[in-house]
Amino acid sequence: RANRDLGQNFLVVPDIIERNVERAGLNERDVVLEVGPGLGVLTDALARRAGKVYAIEKDHRLVEILRSEYDWENVEIIEGDALRVEFPRFNKIVSNLPYQISSPITFRFLKHDFERAVLIYQLEFAQRMVAEPGDKNYSRLSLMVRAKAYAELVERIGRGAFWPKPKVDSAVVVLEPKPPGEQVELNENLVKALFQHRRSTVLAALKKSHHMLGLSREDFRKVRSVLSSMPHSDRRVFQLAPEDVLEIQEYLESVGVL
Ligand code: SAM
Repeated sequence: RANRDLGQNFLVVPDIIERNVERAGLNERDVVLEVGPGLGVLTDALARRAGKVYAIEKDHRLVEILRSEYDWENVEIIEGDALRVEFPRFNKIVSNLPYQISSPITFRFLKHDFERAVLIYQLEFAQRMVAEPGDKNYSRLSLMVRAKAYAELVERIGRGAFWPKPKVDSAVVVLEPKPPGEQVELNENLVKALFQHRRSTVLAALKKSHHMLGLSREDFRKVRSVLSSMPHSDRRVFQLAPEDVLEIQEYLESVGVL
């Protein structure tokens, strides 16, 4: 029986598996990371094309099934929580992710260096990942992903493609990290403080979230005049590109607020 707490919805449409393997553009030099192999249908397709596959699975029952049902020579099953176990070295990621860890696992992926990831997410999450500055669903996630990678939603998948059938639709996202020189390193506290009030202006958002930057109300009052000449201070938070937040960040650092 599938364990819903672990987000166990298994892909049952071979075409979708095939298309995702195709999108990863695999050859025998590739080392693929898969999070949540489940019953191994995607893993098996990856093993046929890649040099090596590391598959991290948390459910002991599934690990036992994978080990007894298949005799792959180039697959290593790692039993454990993908948010905690040490990642091996890899250059591609292909996964049908457990949805409850979508956000932390994506941020964990983005801390590593890889060439391409082909990932299945819940549709609404995928849409937020690829949202552009100014879009109605542009969020902290959209900004943080955009700071590090190019993300494209390449296919929607109906709920009928899974067993058991989930309550929501899904989508495939292809992620490619930007070249190091184009990646933007953002202060997470600042981003959180801003997106706590995504429809406010930058200045108003920082005023409302001053405590998240370690500023008392009194401190905030003292720096207020400096903040009025901060770049982008009158723009709405949900309109900011990562480069804009970086300018705000550098300004706040230069005046000693960060
Ligand atoms: N890849 C399979 C497929 O497409 O049919 C299964 C995908 S299913 C959506 C997600 C899988 O992730 C399940 O096998 C589940 O047990 C596993 N899982 C859930 N949480 C996990 C975690 N924190 N670390 C590793 N695997 C996890």
